[in-house]
Amino acid sequence: MDSGLVDGGAPTDVMVATSAPSAPDPEPAPSRRAPMPAVDEGQCDGQCWVCCEGSSAARPLLTTGCACRGSAGLAHLECLVAAATHDVECWTTCPTCRQEYTGAADVGLARARWALVRGRPAEDEERLFVANNLAVTLKESAGDNEGALALLLEVLAVRRRALPPGAPPDAGTIDSMINAALQHLEMGNLADALPLGEAAVAAARLTWGDAHEDTLVALASLGAVHNGLRDWGAARPLLEEALAARRRTLGAGHLETMNSMHLLGRCLVGQGERRAGLALLTEAATTSRRVLGAAHPSTAHFVAEMLRVEEVERSL
Ligand SMILES: [Zn+2]
Ligand SMILES: [Zn+2]
Repeated sequence: MDSGLVDGGAPTDVMVATSAPSAPDPEPAPSRRAPMPAVDEGQCDGQCWVCCEGSSAARPLLTTGCACRGSAGLAHLECLVAAATHDVECWTTCPTCRQEYTGAADVGLARARWALVRGRPAEDEERLFVANNLAVTLKESAGDNEGALALLLEVLAVRRRALPPGAPPDAGTIDSMINAALQHLEMGNLADALPLGEAAVAAARLTWGDAHEDTLVALASLGAVHNGLRDWGAARPLLEEALAARRRTLGAGHLETMNSMHLLGRCLVGQGERRAGLALLTEAATTSRRVLGAAHPSTAHFVAEMLRVEEVERSL
């Protein structure tokens, strides 16, 4: 059966260098990847960390967009694909620094992986996973929100169809609900995002328990939807719970923890607790600068928000 999953779009890796969000609301979705690509395709001297060869017209070097600097952060797409066929983690995550790829490397890998599985039946678990992964990548590294939403809603529909009648959502369905909610949030469809986010949190607590990494993603996502609705009172306990658990389990230097600092910081500022909110926004920005580097898109995102709030503070 053909699910009609849409194609990932034209085979172009032209990145949209989205500017850091400056409008106060709606809150941009918390990224499961770094939000804004900074692409430097084929312009770098240096060599591929996989094969140690340089850049050419046929085989341009991509910046991997992880935390690796210099030549350690350069690779040919086909070398990254080859590495990923040996270690499945390497489809999304740099084996050296353990941060996720962003930008051109992220998009190239997601499209290459999709090309390998898209001919399979709609319910094929790996195909669903890869479609989901491509959608997140299209949003976060290519700025293609419509393409991402279409993929995510198709995946959610396939997963719901596959559930036995009356059964609660399974892990894959919950994950799919979270991703669809985040995509709606990203696009400002808050009325669509809210019920999906609420259902995902309830199901995640039941299925995985409160402290599970994926439950925290659901909590943070629903918190972000409430932030977008300026319902700070509903957002705060969710975001506090997610941040505390992430500090404990992932540590302050993990991107998910930084995203939680950022979201809770915005929430506190929204509630009028500017000093506490700004402290969290500053912690997210300085931690990201230290861990991921000043040029990393997440750093730019966190710093922009910190500066915006500082600016408002000064003008008061
Ligand atoms: Zn190479
Ligand atoms: Zn790296």
